[in-house]
Amino acid sequence: MAVLPSEDARFEYSVDVLVIGAGACGLTAALAAQELGAEVLVLERDARPTGSTGLSTGLIPAAGSKLQKARGIEDSPEQLASDILAKAHGETDANIVRTVAKASAPTVEWLMDQHGVKFTLVEGFLYPGHSVWRMHGTPNRTGAELQDALLAAAGNLQIDIVTSALATDLYATAQGEVTAVRFTRPDGSAETVGCKALVLACCGFGGNKDMLRELIPEIAEAEFWGHVGNQGDAIRWGRELGAALADLGSYQGHGAVATPYGNPMNWAVLVEGGFLVNASGQRFSNEVRGYSEQAVDTISQPGQFAWDIFDAIRETPILGFSDYKEVDALGGVKRAQTVAELAALIRLPIDALEQTFAEVAQMCAGEREDVHGRSFANKRPLQAPFCAVKVTGALFHTQGGIVVDSDAQALRPDGSRLPNLFAGGGAARGMSGPSRWGYFSGGGLLTAVTLGRLAGTSAARLTLRTPA
Ligand SMILES: Cc1cc2nc3c(=O)[nH]c(=O)nc-3n(C[C@H](O)[C@H](O)[C@H](O)COP(=O)(O)OP(=O)(O)OC[C@H]3O[C@@H](n4cnc5c(N)ncnc54)[C@H](O)[C@@H]3O)c2cc1C
Repeated sequence: MAVLPSEDARFEYSVDVLVIGAGACGLTAALAAQELGAEVLVLERDARPTGSTGLSTGLIPAAGSKLQKARGIEDSPEQLASDILAKAHGETDANIVRTVAKASAPTVEWLMDQHGVKFTLVEGFLYPGHSVWRMHGTPNRTGAELQDALLAAAGNLQIDIVTSALATDLYATAQGEVTAVRFTRPDGSAETVGCKALVLACCGFGGNKDMLRELIPEIAEAEFWGHVGNQGDAIRWGRELGAALADLGSYQGHGAVATPYGNPMNWAVLVEGGFLVNASGQRFSNEVRGYSEQAVDTISQPGQFAWDIFDAIRETPILGFSDYKEVDALGGVKRAQTVAELAALIRLPIDALEQTFAEVAQMCAGEREDVHGRSFANKRPLQAPFCAVKVTGALFHTQGGIVVDSDAQALRPDGSRLPNLFAGGGAARGMSGPSRWGYFSGGGLLTAVTLGRLAGTSAARLTLRTPA
């Protein structure tokens, strides 16, 4: 992975907008650029593009969407921006947060109306940090379904996606203008394609253990459930081109991934009154801060696992989620009529688990303070039948990356723009601030589709020289 001198590039064909990566960011960028009349080519390392997008739950927050309005939900870009900034403790780029929030509903509606993505509103519970229902997902709530819909949309526009094409080197002028990209094929042969603008949509460095050990050691040894092909190429090219990089210690973790299945447990069961216990049957954290910061807490427990404890009432809203149905079908959901029966089933000390249930019931009644700082106000204690799923903590994707402006164009540390480089999704700086605690539910795909669309639009306008 290198940036080579522009004069060394030898290529026989060239496009207006070249996109590296065919996940949500790359595909929305390609759709937007092609719609404006630019000639677009997407390079994707895999034979069949999935990305982290295809492994995700596929939920995207959007504020003020027509689906929200149809259900009488009042929301606005300002309210979404305020929720995101609160989660990141204000330690992120407020301008990008406002840009993304403003673009959220128009982007989701554009994907629905122009490109046939079948979003519906997720109802019944609030995700951590969200003040209203605003998650939009495809019918089965899977990222695979979202990824397939985006690939179908790209197919409808006849966008060229070159698969099994690992981008290895960029060619650039001394001023940082990218003129071509070299990519290799599985047989080792290399090809070069010229471009007028480049969109980096190849996500972060979750698949690169060396970068993780250097930049985010606390999560480096946890399981990684994102796309292993995301090796930090955008960040390394960006660094060589002189782009500003920020928040490289930031990531989306998840503190309750059903093990050994690898499916994230829906956080709603915890927010609504469930809790996590370790192998001693004891709670160990404030579960409702958010799922990202919980990852380290869970992997710090003996055996690096915990049990996600809830009941049939809390289970009802998540029964339609494919991820959960899979875990249940594989026998991962343990059910029992009494706490003692549950403890025996999952091999926890009966006395300890009964004591934890009793303490939570006291906290729900306002008779006890939680030593971990969680409020159980307005929550009802769990009622039989009870459920338990064994979970671990995992890394989903990294959040740090190339600093971009509100056109998704890459910036240098002095705030000036690199001439023709754009980035979005996991390749760009996210909205989470510097660490694990700032990740806002849905922030990954939100920046993928909004910055992806902005990057494609801006790149096309630059190459076609059309005004904004
Ligand atoms: C289990 C799980 C659940 C999640 N659930 C959600 C959710 O519900 N909502 C949400 O907002 N976020 C969620 N996320 C996060 C979300 O998946 C990511 O933030 C998002 O998919 C990033 O999109 P992207 O397009 O930037 O990257 P990706 O979708 O990963 O796409 C990057 C593409 O670039 C390709 N690539 C990489 N390097 C190269 C190269 N050198 N040359 C060519 N191609 C290359 C990769 O093969 C890949 O296809 C989840 C993540 C996981 C793991």
